[in-house]
Amino acid sequence: MSHVNLSKVVKRFGDFTALHELDLDIKEGEFLTLLGPSGCGKTTTLRLIAGFIQPTQGTIMLGEEDVTQVAPQHREIGMVFQDYALFPHMTIAENIGFGLKERKYPKADIAARVGELLDLIHLPEVGDRYPAEVSGGQQQRIAVARAVAYPPKVLLMDEPLGALDLKLRETMQVELRRIQQELKITTVYVTHDQTEAMNMSDRIVVMNTGRIEQMGSAEGIYNSPETRFVADFVGQINLLDGEVTGTDGDHILVRTADTDIRVIQKNGAPIGPTCVGVRPEQLQLVSSDSAPPDFNVLQGKLVGRTFAGNLTRLFIEIGLDKPVVIECKPQDAPTEIGIDLSIGWPIEQSTLLNK
Ligand code: ATP
Repeated sequence: MSHVNLSKVVKRFGDFTALHELDLDIKEGEFLTLLGPSGCGKTTTLRLIAGFIQPTQGTIMLGEEDVTQVAPQHREIGMVFQDYALFPHMTIAENIGFGLKERKYPKADIAARVGELLDLIHLPEVGDRYPAEVSGGQQQRIAVARAVAYPPKVLLMDEPLGALDLKLRETMQVELRRIQQELKITTVYVTHDQTEAMNMSDRIVVMNTGRIEQMGSAEGIYNSPETRFVADFVGQINLLDGEVTGTDGDHILVRTADTDIRVIQKNGAPIGPTCVGVRPEQLQLVSSDSAPPDFNVLQGKLVGRTFAGNLTRLFIEIGLDKPVVIECKPQDAPTEIGIDLSIGWPIEQSTLLNK
């Protein structure tokens, strides 16, 4: 069931169009992430759903209700921001119970709900402390508890983990996802961090310059990017520029780095410039005369290597503008910079990116 629906939403600031006819359908209980680079319109979309700004055109529905013109306080939406915004002079329990007190809930009901939420965020002991007396990660969990205290219809989170260090962010990603799943609350999450989006979301919406580039599960977007932008933004990828020169049975033939390679593309591809995407983990070092027949093989020269603990990245010059990156086990990585190498990958693991 659709829970939040944006239909043909345009947002202009003066002459500048921040969102171009955005259509977005968010399902009940779904964790949906808006992912994209700075300025692509993520926060604008969130603020439109919250009602802090009005669309220039289009409609916004919450369930069956058209809320396009409804004030934020009447939309029953919970919000969590990067800077927590807890009230420093109130205890944690008072912070969490704030919305309920405003709505004149009986004291005993507030205390019960606050207790329940402190358990939910695994901080049952901190109710009497002040925000300055808990850690950053704890403050963020408290901010979530406060946002969901009076159960909102939708929870909106804008880069909530942006201020935390990497290790804590990773723990909090799991934690926020758990809380969201326990509450079964429809959630729209904003981040520019693709790993965070992939770790947490049911569905990811990749945005670019005020438009949706692609929507789908983390796996769908990572394995089948539809555009060059998405392929490059979500995960690491080698983009091999080339020319479609024809077909060979089920395969499209592409000339790149002075070599003919094959790509599977159901709908065919027009003759002319193109780009082939291959992920670093799909590339392998091969022997040029004994590579499997269903492999593409390119010749190159090792120009660099970096050690990342569990894997080594090799940078291999193949005659395009950038070396390709390949990931291999440290024990399999050659050490001699300058040697000639062959790299290969299964034909079905390359993606044609025409847009
Ligand atoms: P970031 O990750 O940097 O927060 P974002 O994807 O959330 O980026 P938005 O804040 O949605 O981006 O902004 C989208 C575009 O709209 C930007 O170019 C921004 O400068 C512009 N914009 C946002 N708010 C206003 C405003 N009130 N007046 C004018 N331009 C605005």
